[in-house]
Amino acid sequence: MMEYDQKSLEEKWQKKWQEMNIYNFDFKSSKQPYSIDVPPRYASGPLHAGHAVHYTHIDFAARYKRMRGYNVFFPLCFDVNGIPIEERVERQLNITRKDIDRHEFTKLCSAFAQKNIATMTNQFIRLGESMDPSIYYQTDAEYYRRITQISFIELFNKGYIYKGRFPVNWCPRCMTAMADAEVVYSDRTTKLNTIKFYFTKPQDEQLLKYPGIGKDSHGVYIEIATTRPEMLAVCQIVAVHPTDERAPWLVGQTVKVPPELTKEVKIVQDDAVDPNFGTGLVMICTVGDKEDLKWVFKYKLPLEMSIDEEGKMTSITGKYKGLKIDDARKTIIEEMTKNGLLLKQEPLAQSIGVCWRCKTPVEFINAKQWFLKTIPFKHLVLDKSNAMHWYPEFMKIRLEDWVNSLE
Ligand SMILES: [Zn+2]
Repeated sequence: MMEYDQKSLEEKWQKKWQEMNIYNFDFKSSKQPYSIDVPPRYASGPLHAGHAVHYTHIDFAARYKRMRGYNVFFPLCFDVNGIPIEERVERQLNITRKDIDRHEFTKLCSAFAQKNIATMTNQFIRLGESMDPSIYYQTDAEYYRRITQISFIELFNKGYIYKGRFPVNWCPRCMTAMADAEVVYSDRTTKLNTIKFYFTKPQDEQLLKYPGIGKDSHGVYIEIATTRPEMLAVCQIVAVHPTDERAPWLVGQTVKVPPELTKEVKIVQDDAVDPNFGTGLVMICTVGDKEDLKWVFKYKLPLEMSIDEEGKMTSITGKYKGLKIDDARKTIIEEMTKNGLLLKQEPLAQSIGVCWRCKTPVEFINAKQWFLKTIPFKHLVLDKSNAMHWYPEFMKIRLEDWVNSLE
């Protein structure tokens, strides 16, 4: 008996099926069409086992519908836009895109993407996926870019797109804004620094019986724990929980912000304070994370930014200007240690938002950005969703939650 050689047999039949065009969508057919909105695979690297599983699920649906007599629209397609490709090219060549000519960089990215597309197309064929190469598209094609540009101009002319400054999630390495969905969370151990904020006015000695209040030769101070001492220059208020026993003493008072001790900020009471974190007294800076934005709007705080788009300290931080975030943090800690402003430093496990591409911690930057208005269209999306049959049903809830969370 002849030995079964799957490799040559598979290749033989795959070639045959390609020649027969059996997966092709027929534009002239009277059969009912069945369209699959395939997620175009990112051209940032070859397929792995996870893609094989994921795309095979989609392939099940395509094959089933063909067998049921539908004219199936299931394109072979690739997503060539986006920063994952740029990031990989930057890593391979050990450069950032700012280092070389823009067109030169685009060419490098394009060559990198095309190489991956060739590999992946072959992988899809070898996996027996029934995507249709006759309706192939990739998102950097001339016509595709034209459609994108025309859509942009149309939206702009209708007033749905505008340029503005707003604090956005920002990766200082990729130098780009990120949607909330692009922020991933990573566990790390950082240092929680407890530092002194001196009162501007003399205090009643009775106050010293409370935790988180201290006194030295410079006066009475409150203790605040922070993981981001480099943001002290943009500390705008200090807050305490309304039910905190110290609140009646503290609310309405002012304290001096270390290490300069020239800026004075008010103490407010707010339900949002976690009484169990640190000393139960928090400083609000502009803008460490998305939570801080709520404080900004609630208390109409000035949107002073301490970190710029390259992840360096801004001029508002005075002598720290130009330092990288980590260096600024180190320098400020050294200075506060020297001046007796640092009470203690302890390890703290925390989950921080990082860039999904390069894992750099995400900052909030007041960046000039293009914005697309989505709020006026929320109800349209929900109406369409209600008119559809959902399989499985819970995916409908997921879409609704997402739409309703847009603000
Ligand atoms: Zn990044």
